[in-house]
Amino acid sequence: MGRRYAFGVDLGGTNVRVVLGDDEGRILARLSERTEIGRGPEGISKQIVRMIRSMRVKGFRLDEAEGVGIGSAGPLDLKRGGLMNPTNIPYEFVPLVEPISDELGLETRLLNDCSTAVMGERFFGAGKGMDNLAYITLSTGIGGGVYVDGHLLIGKDGNATEIGHFTVDYDGRLICGCGKRGHWEAYCSGANIPNYVDLILMEREQSEVELSLLSMIRRREGKISARGLYEAAKAGDRLALEIVDQIGRLNAVGFACVNDAYDPSLITVGGSITLNNVELVMNPIRRYISEHSRNRIPEIRVTPLGEDVVLYGALALIFYGIS
Ligand SMILES: [Zn+2]
Repeated sequence: MGRRYAFGVDLGGTNVRVVLGDDEGRILARLSERTEIGRGPEGISKQIVRMIRSMRVKGFRLDEAEGVGIGSAGPLDLKRGGLMNPTNIPYEFVPLVEPISDELGLETRLLNDCSTAVMGERFFGAGKGMDNLAYITLSTGIGGGVYVDGHLLIGKDGNATEIGHFTVDYDGRLICGCGKRGHWEAYCSGANIPNYVDLILMEREQSEVELSLLSMIRRREGKISARGLYEAAKAGDRLALEIVDQIGRLNAVGFACVNDAYDPSLITVGGSITLNNVELVMNPIRRYISEHSRNRIPEIRVTPLGEDVVLYGALALIFYGIS
């Protein structure tokens, strides 16, 4: 049997993960490290090369791999093959494709991490054989990847589906990491849920806040993290449950926009906020989406690929390419 092999890379501002996998979706080896952002613009490609070289699988030689697929947090400059002013990395441009392919002699392909994830879903996950498919991540940030009529949406710079920057609050009470006001990610992402919780608590009666588990968490941690909020909700705290419901309403608005713009048959959902709080995240989206979406509501489910969805997509990027 001619099994095909490739390396898949999930590159984030915090961690970089590398796998060796085959075209049937088997992961043969994996490595994870903190992203080395302090070693110059070339440091990250050097780290990825070192990680790939250090992966040992019995009977496997590096030159048997067909290539290196990279799914990376944006913004990307796909024409130059690297990251352009990345959010958590202090360089104007981080080259990836050229130094990695030169060093390893392997074809190297780069794509936005959420676009990579939807590829993973289509070839290895819940979207097999589907031509109209969206993937949404609710994590530190919010992002999406979309196929329409079998085509992966890319855009002029590779940022066609930056859905986290949909405006969901035209009053613009909170400012997004991108600097603009009212964006979905400014309210519902893991990094920004603490700001939204503060905003809601300011509008509440202080006596009600004092009685809630949330004020205890705030005394202990200074700010109420996404984790703290969902833990209080799981413990049955009424105010925490109400806030989780409000976050769910905004998520439903975002999902409705995705549904009305792209008309998918299936939306799969991933990211740490979702994977750690499946019921609390998914139930309000399913409950409220039809209040906002004009198009027929698609199936909405958690990705079966879990935290590995980008890695599977990075493999698919080499085996199947972008269509
Ligand atoms: Zn934004």
